[in-house]
Amino acid sequence: MSFSLATVAYLGAAILFILSLGGLSNPETSRRGNLYGIIGMALAVLATILGPRVAAAGIPWIVGALLIGGSVGLYAAKTVKMTQMPELVALMHSLVGLAACLVGFASYVDTSVQYTGAEKTIHEVEIYIGILIGAVTFSGSLIAFGKLNGKIGGKPLLLPARHWLNLLGLLVVIWFGREFVNAPDVQSGMTPLIVMTVIALLFGIHMVMAIGGADMPVVVSMLNSYSGWAAAATGFMLSNDLLIVTGALVGSSGAILSYIMCNAMNRNFISVIAGGFGGGADKPAAASGAAAEPQGEVVPVSASETAELLRDAKSVIIVPGYGMAVAQAQHTVNDITKTLRDRGVNVRFGIHPVAGRMPGHMNVLLAEAKVPYDIVLEMDEINDDFPDTDVVMVIGANDIVNPAAQEDPTSPIAGMPVLEVWKGRTSIVMKRSMASGYAGVDNPLFYKDNNRMLFGDAKKMLDEVLAALKA
Ligand code: NDP
Repeated sequence: MSFSLATVAYLGAAILFILSLGGLSNPETSRRGNLYGIIGMALAVLATILGPRVAAAGIPWIVGALLIGGSVGLYAAKTVKMTQMPELVALMHSLVGLAACLVGFASYVDTSVQYTGAEKTIHEVEIYIGILIGAVTFSGSLIAFGKLNGKIGGKPLLLPARHWLNLLGLLVVIWFGREFVNAPDVQSGMTPLIVMTVIALLFGIHMVMAIGGADMPVVVSMLNSYSGWAAAATGFMLSNDLLIVTGALVGSSGAILSYIMCNAMNRNFISVIAGGFGGGADKPAAASGAAAEPQGEVVPVSASETAELLRDAKSVIIVPGYGMAVAQAQHTVNDITKTLRDRGVNVRFGIHPVAGRMPGHMNVLLAEAKVPYDIVLEMDEINDDFPDTDVVMVIGANDIVNPAAQEDPTSPIAGMPVLEVWKGRTSIVMKRSMASGYAGVDNPLFYKDNNRMLFGDAKKMLDEVLAALKA
């Protein structure tokens, strides 16, 4: 493939990636967005392999690597459960970071291209920054992976003088950067490069370890952004325009997502990065099963009583959370929604921006179950409607409906906007036990006079509710 044909293919791929991002911003167009992304990526890979910069002798190696990587990816995509998706995404971010580091070291030791003067300095700065971002992304994403699957505790690790430690790390990195660029040869430049890589790896670990449970969404989207910048840095090192564009797209969309997540949590971005928010649980509840302290009377309710309440209601709001994803209850939720709507009940869904374990988690599940989009509303759109609602059904959600965020200024989630389900005439919380949510915070909602608890696996309980509704 000639150079100009490869450039045209790259341009086409870049346009398809932009269209893909546009499509993914709306559930109705997301399938099309995905398709654009797949075509764009196929075009990009083909143009790279067949392009002028790959020698024919290298093609079997690339095809071999593609087969191995593709098989691992296919296997992971086929076997991963929906609830493990956020961990898988964190793991993939770490691979982008690792790739940036490896490409950085490889292009530093590669002497086939000789750079001189300003060109040499620019190339070395690209390598240094690329490895820096890559190493932070790599180690930070691995810790995020551990936190998301519950292997690492949710409590923030607050080292004494942590801000000073970070600042010291930054100054050392700048100093070694100078040493690296001024190094006369590859051998003497290697020491500052390795020292910086170790510091960056430690910084990535420290940064994510210092974030408490409920603030993880911001970190996940931030690492998404970092992985984009790491890819863009790799593009600079390899002089690959498409990688630069694609990396910048991922980096900037991840940054916008982090901003949206910060707004959703009512957090200041810098404060979240500095860490320390969200203390209160030694482990995410999913891992620890920690029980909330009893604070009053809990009124259990049966599936048939729930069905009766729903049958008598004129308006119902369903609030899904992580437990709905665990139970894979979305299809039964849709069946109940259809049954109630056929009876003339006004059913709507209230979606919190950080419900579940990844951005858009609930929307994806509801779309998969074919719940009509027009009754799925964002938190801001529905929060004022709870007082006029007969029954609010909370399905496997906890932190996102916790009134402590508004009522208890000492709570680790204080200030986080939540769905005000307790303002409904009756709220029914469906979960297996009194255990706390991801943030490990007690939930006073369970003890409110107008609240009922339907204990059990969400799918099993909803099946019983549906059967009772149809009886
Ligand atoms: P939570 O983790 O707060 O609560 C989920 C609840 O679901 C648990 O209390 C659990 O209680 C219940 N549950 C689990 N399995 C089942 C089941 N099979 N059937 C019924 N119930 C079940 O989830 P929310 O969605 O309310 O809040 C999301 C939390 O995750 C927030 O703290 C958010 O910050 C955090 N987070 C969000 C991310 C995102 O991007 N969206 C990323 C990382 C973290 P029980 O064990 O008693 O059944």
